[in-house]
Amino acid sequence: MARKRILTGDRPTGKLHLGHYVGSLANRVRLQDEYECFFIIADLHTLTTRPEKEHIDALRQNVNDVVLDYLAAGIDPAHSVIYLQSAVPAVYEMNLIFEMLITLPRLQRVPSIKDMARAANLGDESVPFGLMGYPVLQAADILMPRADLVPVGRDNEAHVEVTREIARRFNFLYGEVFPIPDALVGDVPSLVGTDGQAKMSKSLGNAIFLSDDAKTVSRKVMSMYTDPKRVSADIPGTVEGNPVFIYHDVFNPNHAEVEDLKTRYRAGKVGDVEVKEKLVKALNDFMQPMRDRRAKFEAQKGLVEQIIYDGTRRASEEGAETVSLMRKAMGLAGMWNRISRRAREAQSSQS
Ligand code: ATP
Ligand code: MG
Repeated sequence: MARKRILTGDRPTGKLHLGHYVGSLANRVRLQDEYECFFIIADLHTLTTRPEKEHIDALRQNVNDVVLDYLAAGIDPAHSVIYLQSAVPAVYEMNLIFEMLITLPRLQRVPSIKDMARAANLGDESVPFGLMGYPVLQAADILMPRADLVPVGRDNEAHVEVTREIARRFNFLYGEVFPIPDALVGDVPSLVGTDGQAKMSKSLGNAIFLSDDAKTVSRKVMSMYTDPKRVSADIPGTVEGNPVFIYHDVFNPNHAEVEDLKTRYRAGKVGDVEVKEKLVKALNDFMQPMRDRRAKFEAQKGLVEQIIYDGTRRASEEGAETVSLMRKAMGLAGMWNRISRRAREAQSSQS
């Protein structure tokens, strides 16, 4: 029996961080053998707010970085398809058809679009048509390999919901072509930043990157936001919502140590420095295997390009098949076939 499929990925806007890991990458690594996986490097999505040529030129390095982050995180390129969105023709074709299957007011209600417009300093009058269509393009990505499951962080759940609506609408109008994909949100749907803001994000400058070395991790953790009321070690502190303890809960496998630190913190019997030093150790233990894998893959010249090349060819084949199924279901293929047949008949009767 054919394995079920996963589609997920990232915009190549910079290096991946621990938030990406717990929100989505961890699930990809865990499920990569059970599912047939397609991981998209969504470069077209970056054009929704930044279409300028110099920006496109700068993507090249980011594409490389993201793929290395995947490999470092433990994604096995021999088992998964890693591909470049802009090089897959089906994505553009599917996007156009899907634009007909969703209303503008529905897209205007997707909260992340307003957030993205704000982050890019775009007022209401300068929001590009394509930014409104961000979730539609994502639907094209997800449905291109006819995926069943989409591992994402919380901020992407609403987009997967749009995909489900488009898939249902297509199937209703033209016949069953698409599975209705489920979102799979990671164990930590939205990891806090080192500064205590609700979301770790590279644009907020509060991220620990998967590619950070041990020293950088130490520096970032030692200056992390904690309980601001605690000006000295003997003042009882708050554990709940404290980013240092949130990270301990997520990344420190020594639960007894974490419980002991929490008890002493609440009682004002441990300094922030000790709590943070133990977190540095836990994070570096967690990240060291990633660093080792990264070094191994980085040393292989041309490997990343080879992986993207093979993956993009594979994805393009899959996309061509899906577009063909869509055109057949919609009757577009039949119309074109009739026209071609008649044209050929007319030609041969003339000669
Ligand atoms: P950043 O917010 O750092 O700029 P991004 O917005 O470019 O990152 P996306 O490409 O939107 O990242 O997200 C890639 C995936 O990682 C999505 O599934 C998203 O939900 C998830 N993700 C991003 N940041 C976090 C986080 N702090 N916690 C959990 N999941 C996250
Ligand atoms: Mg985001």
